[in-house]
Amino acid sequence: MNLALQDITYIKGVGTKRADTLRKELGVSTALDLLHHYPYKYIDRSRFYKISDIDSEEAYVQIKGEIIEFHTIGAGKTARLSAMFSDGQGVVELVWFRNIQYLKLETHVPYLLFGKPSVFDHRYNFPHPELTPLAKLNPLSVQGLMPVYNTTDKMKSVRLDSKALYSIISSLHDPLKQGVPDTLGMDIVQRYHLLSLTDALLKIHFPKTTEDIQRARERLKFEELFYIQLSLLRQMKRREQNCGITMPKVGHFFNTFYRQFLPFTLTGAQKRVVKEIQADLKSGRQMNRLLQGDVGSGKTLVAMLCALLAADNGCQTCIMAPTEILANQHMQTVSSMLAGTGVNVALLTGSTTKKQREILHARLSSGDIHILIGTHALIEDNVQFANLGLCIIDEQHRFGVAQRAKLWAKNITPPHILVMTATPIPRTLAMTVYGDLSVSIIDELPPGRKPIHTVHYSLQRRQTVYQFIDQQISAGRQIYVVYPLIKENEKLDLKDLQTGFNELCEAFPRYRISMVHGQMKAADKDYQMQRFVSGETQILVATTVIEVGVNVPNASVMIIMNAERFGLSQLHQLRGRVGRGAEQSYCILLTRNDLTKDTRKRMDIMVATNDGFRIAEADLQLRGPGDLDGTQQSGLPFDLKIASLATDGIILETARKAATEVLQDDPLLESEWNKIYRQRLDMLRMTVANWSEIS
Ligand code: ADP
Ligand code: MG
Repeated sequence: MNLALQDITYIKGVGTKRADTLRKELGVSTALDLLHHYPYKYIDRSRFYKISDIDSEEAYVQIKGEIIEFHTIGAGKTARLSAMFSDGQGVVELVWFRNIQYLKLETHVPYLLFGKPSVFDHRYNFPHPELTPLAKLNPLSVQGLMPVYNTTDKMKSVRLDSKALYSIISSLHDPLKQGVPDTLGMDIVQRYHLLSLTDALLKIHFPKTTEDIQRARERLKFEELFYIQLSLLRQMKRREQNCGITMPKVGHFFNTFYRQFLPFTLTGAQKRVVKEIQADLKSGRQMNRLLQGDVGSGKTLVAMLCALLAADNGCQTCIMAPTEILANQHMQTVSSMLAGTGVNVALLTGSTTKKQREILHARLSSGDIHILIGTHALIEDNVQFANLGLCIIDEQHRFGVAQRAKLWAKNITPPHILVMTATPIPRTLAMTVYGDLSVSIIDELPPGRKPIHTVHYSLQRRQTVYQFIDQQISAGRQIYVVYPLIKENEKLDLKDLQTGFNELCEAFPRYRISMVHGQMKAADKDYQMQRFVSGETQILVATTVIEVGVNVPNASVMIIMNAERFGLSQLHQLRGRVGRGAEQSYCILLTRNDLTKDTRKRMDIMVATNDGFRIAEADLQLRGPGDLDGTQQSGLPFDLKIASLATDGIILETARKAATEVLQDDPLLESEWNKIYRQRLDMLRMTVANWSEIS
């Protein structure tokens, strides 16, 4: 029997209705697909507990014993059934709240109880346990490790719970035993000491020991990560064969700026990174590079130097920022640094008027403008360049892959792409989400920076914080106060912000305060920002619009209200707004008192370290990769079913190595012996396409 061709409808216990649900809910349509729906955990049914052994609510347990007494409490909808269950030594209560009319309990009959204990009134009880008379125990039912499968509400509504799935999958045991074609070549299976696919599937659904589960998971995770790597690396190789615009010259613009206008010495890391990019630019191949550097590491300057290289080679550069505030700020930094060098810089955002646009378009297509800075407005089709050679995307997580692709199309030979991100990316994510990009890292901050001092206070200590604000402003510093923004209720957020603003105005009548939020008109936002940048206002009250990139070196205190509502990388980004000048800077996290364990951990990590890399790792551990900024948008080529980017780093490294080996002599998988990989990749892509049609 070919399991890959067997329609699930005809598997014992399925039928049309359930098959339909399986297709819709799990994307499962063949027997083999179903075998790739892996258990997410196992329950050890070889062990029998005593009631006195129960010591947590964590695990399922099974106990042999009998019911000594049962009765119904209450009546009607709120009625519940309570039974006292004894194992001969101890007694524990069993309770049922639903469907009690169908329960047929008998006293003094030996039962096997199976369930998860729960604490009520300082005692353990079992809500809705499974009770099977020992006499009726199916000798074939699982006695060892029982798999537990994820199911959805829709599946449950057609009685497809974990147990039902297990029984359906069990009916595939014998056909599976006859073997399924492997999806990895034998050479890889052997070299990396993996199980065959058949063995892995047998062991993941029908394990005898925990080692079986371990080995099966290892193989299935490996395979998943291997195909992601293969797909990414092949894409990268394909692009390497693309011609790129060759930029061999270091000329007038670069040299003039570097010799006469550079405001400070580059850090070693900045120099190294510029060299790496320069090597790409003159290679004749299209660059697709990720520039990673913690907040304040000086990425803007690197971007500008690269733009000058492009200008020296007769090419234009566009620098794309995620917000108008940032685009304005880049415009200011770049144009003031380049004043007097003869490089023409222009700005294009949503606020650029039609008339200004017309002039701009003309200057762009004539090649008069060397560097165009802007927001999304840059990628509109009517923005045409004379010779766009380099696209720099700042704070990439706000831009999707599709938008990146639009930029490629802006020149006959695709322009070089440099993606800059301040969110340090854990290695596993860098290898997957950005696995098709080359990576450069600025791992050094400009000299003289003092580490930011971070504290975590309860919101009730606001007065202490106000005193501190006063002290800092008196010393000539400026202050950020940030309020959280929850998209679902912008009105309420604004109210919070407004209340906060009023409170600060009252507390500090002598100081001037700016306010900035997402609902404001760009011009107003810009005006308020400018007031703060120029030092006219001492306090900036804002929502997270200031999260990325804003640079006001004189601001030395970042106060984050309701810090519990922010994720770690966001907190780190916000903190990165201070500590940019020579003064000691501070970050004050204010939260409610009743924090969850995870939230407390987030605060502790922020207080403990300024190292963006450590924070990113912690974030990945706490939240899982799915939630991290950028992953949804950048996306993986396929979903991960079993492997985890948080915990499977080692398997990922091995899988990447194996994929590299496969592509070594056959970068596009064209040879006969790599057919298995080529076909599998095509198939995986097909599945993904099907999924997106369903959802
Ligand atoms: P980010 O990497 O977060 O975008 P920026 O480019 O905004 O960082 O730089 C942060 C600050 O550091 C800016 O004020 C910038 O002028 C300054 N800076 C950048 N490079 C250097 C350097 N080599 N030496 C001293 N200061 C620098
Ligand atoms: Mg920046």
